[in-house]
Amino acid sequence: MELCKKSECTGCMACINICPRKAIVLQQDEEGFLYPIILKDNCIKCGACAKVCPQMNSKRSEENYDKKVYAGWMKNRRLRRRSTSGGAFTAFAKEIMSNNGVVYGAGFDKDNKVIHKRITKKSELKQLRGSKYVQSYIGNTFSQVKDDILNGMPVLFSGTPCQIDGLYSYLGNRYEKQLFTIDLVCHGVPSPEIYSKYLEYLEKQYKSKVNKMYFRDKEPGWYVFGMRVEFQNGFVYKKNTYEDPFARGFLRNLFLRPSCHSCHYANNQRIADVTLADFWGYQSTNEKDYDDDKGISMIMINSSNGDVLFQQAKHQMRYFARDVEQAVQGNPALSHCFPPAENREQFWLDVHSNSFEYVIEKYMYSEEIPEWFKFREQQIKSYKNDRRKHLPNRVFRRVLGNKLYEKLKKIK
Ligand SMILES: Cc1cc2nc3c(=O)[nH]c(=O)nc-3n(C[C@H](O)[C@H](O)[C@H](O)COP(=O)(O)OP(=O)(O)OC[C@H]3O[C@@H](n4cnc5c(N)ncnc54)[C@H](O)[C@@H]3O)c2cc1C
Ligand code: SF4
Ligand code: SF4
Ligand code: SF4
Repeated sequence: MELCKKSECTGCMACINICPRKAIVLQQDEEGFLYPIILKDNCIKCGACAKVCPQMNSKRSEENYDKKVYAGWMKNRRLRRRSTSGGAFTAFAKEIMSNNGVVYGAGFDKDNKVIHKRITKKSELKQLRGSKYVQSYIGNTFSQVKDDILNGMPVLFSGTPCQIDGLYSYLGNRYEKQLFTIDLVCHGVPSPEIYSKYLEYLEKQYKSKVNKMYFRDKEPGWYVFGMRVEFQNGFVYKKNTYEDPFARGFLRNLFLRPSCHSCHYANNQRIADVTLADFWGYQSTNEKDYDDDKGISMIMINSSNGDVLFQQAKHQMRYFARDVEQAVQGNPALSHCFPPAENREQFWLDVHSNSFEYVIEKYMYSEEIPEWFKFREQQIKSYKNDRRKHLPNRVFRRVLGNKLYEKLKKIK
């Protein structure tokens, strides 16, 4: 039995979830990505894995739906601030939870690895909130979704488009009105191996274990995002997107999964009911839809099922209709996938033969703030490491109020 070519395998894990004999195991390659391997002795050649692989047979939605696009953000300022874009994901997820449903998405395990999780309480939603720019481990979540559906629960599943394609392929049914799906506009997923080397490098440098990761901290603004890492000893690492080595390597396409460079999903023929993204290229038209640099979601409704969910969740958001062209124009990942960096091969040779410090200096070095963004230079540069403990910070902020707290911080 043959699965798809390695270069096309997205690691969606539909094949593993479907195999009736547990004859497929995952093997990590030298770049740290996981690939399925069939154990010949256990395989009964039933063909289910090849039938379910989305890269061997794509089953796109056949519904002829006239897409709608909205720009939006959550009315709740705290939740918007903690989300990557405008927080649309949280608005949809809360609605599913209010109907006693379950929500699946990418979170962290106890070692800060990125994994897909099943969440049943609103208070746990923070685990899924925020983009994690690393390939998420799907595990057996597809079969958990099936169980939830058979138990009559409303389900929201979120992930990259290839993960959603894998889920539908595995289920063989869209289970409309019970299963709702969200996919992200996707630049590509970075290697878990580089992510783990990056964490090790930070832990060595700051002499403490990483406690919490935020790949898109909004303190320096939504447009210039920040990498914020909180350590167990209270130290807070903060680097803007032009400085942080992981962000630089990700955006230079040095360590994305190979299938991302020939991605079938980088267009507006979407798999999921709803597509979410940053609304790059957003244009405000009046003071009500003013862009305040706090994050705007691009919400693309791709099916009538998606519209059902949007109608239920929209009361939590401020939203404004936009056309599909505006969404596509500002977001390259909606029209094409990204080629690998020219020096990708050499990068990996160096990763395997040199120290990570060397690799950072050679490939993941800082970048000048671009000319068009110089007017934000002060704001970007003032985003600096912080030695204070997290708890007093939070308490001070609450007691003093946001304005006074920010003023005192500047004086310090
Ligand atoms: C790897 C990756 C690449 C992206 N590339 C782009 C891009 O090129 N252009 C663009 O406009 N937007 C991109 N996004 C999407 C964007 O960063 C936001 O995730 C999206 O707009 C949702 O934001 P939100 O404010 O609604 O919710 P948030 O709370 O910020 O997002 C949470 C959602 O993201 C999902 N998620 C987080 N990390 C992962 C992961 N590793 N794998 C699968 N799902 C994950 C969660 O399951 C949840 O559904 C990307 C996201 C990821 C994870
Ligand atoms: S052919 Fe059937 S038994 Fe063999 S690996 Fe594929 S799904 Fe499993
Ligand atoms: S089903 Fe997914 S993980 Fe399995 S071979 Fe196909 S793309 Fe790879
Ligand atoms: S770029 Fe394409 S193949 Fe890569 S993770 Fe995103 S959707 Fe999957």
